[in-house]
Amino acid sequence: MTQTITVIRGDGIGPEIMDATLHVLDAMNLGLRYEEADAGLAALEKHGELLPAQTLESIARNRIALKSPLTTPVGEGFSSINVALRRHFDLYANVRPAKSFPNTRSRFPSGVDLITVRENTEGAYIGEGQTLSEDGETASLIQRITRKGSERIVRYAFDLARRTGRKKVTVVHKANILKTTSGLFLKVAREVAALYPEIECNEMIVDNTCMQLVMRPEQFDIIVTTNLFGDIISDLCAGLVGGLGLAPGANIGTEAAIFEAVHGTAPDIAGQGKANPCALLLGAAQMLDHLARPEEAARLRDAVVATLEAKDALTPDLGGSGTTTTFAQAIASRL
Ligand code: ATP
Repeated sequence: MTQTITVIRGDGIGPEIMDATLHVLDAMNLGLRYEEADAGLAALEKHGELLPAQTLESIARNRIALKSPLTTPVGEGFSSINVALRRHFDLYANVRPAKSFPNTRSRFPSGVDLITVRENTEGAYIGEGQTLSEDGETASLIQRITRKGSERIVRYAFDLARRTGRKKVTVVHKANILKTTSGLFLKVAREVAALYPEIECNEMIVDNTCMQLVMRPEQFDIIVTTNLFGDIISDLCAGLVGGLGLAPGANIGTEAAIFEAVHGTAPDIAGQGKANPCALLLGAAQMLDHLARPEEAARLRDAVVATLEAKDALTPDLGGSGTTTTFAQAIASRL
């Protein structure tokens, strides 16, 4: 079966890590067809806009995109292209796995294997009610939590647990202080959890969660939380397993899903062949899971892990002297 995916090569190190990722995917003979589309600076130069209509049409048609990091130039009408994509396709679930890998700078070499499921559309990020008083002394914004938004993200987390055989979902909140917003999220989460009796559910206040993550990360399996807490916690988790070079992420909605590396465009090393392609490769593995191809996703992850274990052609950020290309070739050779 041929599956067409939209491929966005992006800016900075984006094209290099995308070439590496497609090289590895090609070695797997997955029957994927790539439809290239532009976004970010590359699109601005070619089409005169950061997020061209044909890119949105391509994602809408294929429903799946693999995306490299993008540059949003200051003062071009978007606060962030990534946020614009999330809004356009209502990509409500931000899913970020954090797993310890061999020969990386993980603080916990064998202990971390968790997924953060962050609500991606509500809370403090709705962009409403941002005011600053004339004297510059008082600022405010609106945080909005809805039953619908809470229900669909918590359901996503429990369905993910069911699908992947994970055993526990931790609902992270601050309902003791944010009684209305976080309170509603927690109330709805409890109702949803009751529908999944085979999956353990516990609740944890966000500040305690941060401490627990750093002290005993192995107690977590799936974390589900609201937008701002999820933003912070998912980067904390990336730090637990060795930094952003190994952290993939997915933005998932009912009509489309976009898979990516969590890191940015790394302009300091762009064009030098030094970029580590692992995060985007692991994003591609998430994409295969989403396409209901879990064996192939596992095959890809196993090849990445075996290459890290063998210290074969690792890029400089991992302490090696390989290049983006030779590292990708070493991974592909294990498939
Ligand atoms: P942006 O403005 O797009 O967010 P940035 O450089 O501020 O870019 P990141 O791209 O996340 O932020 O990079 C932070 C640091 O991590 C940089 O020093 C960068 O070189 C390094 N880095 C990020 N991604 C990678 C990668 N895939 N391989 C190697 N180093 C990376």
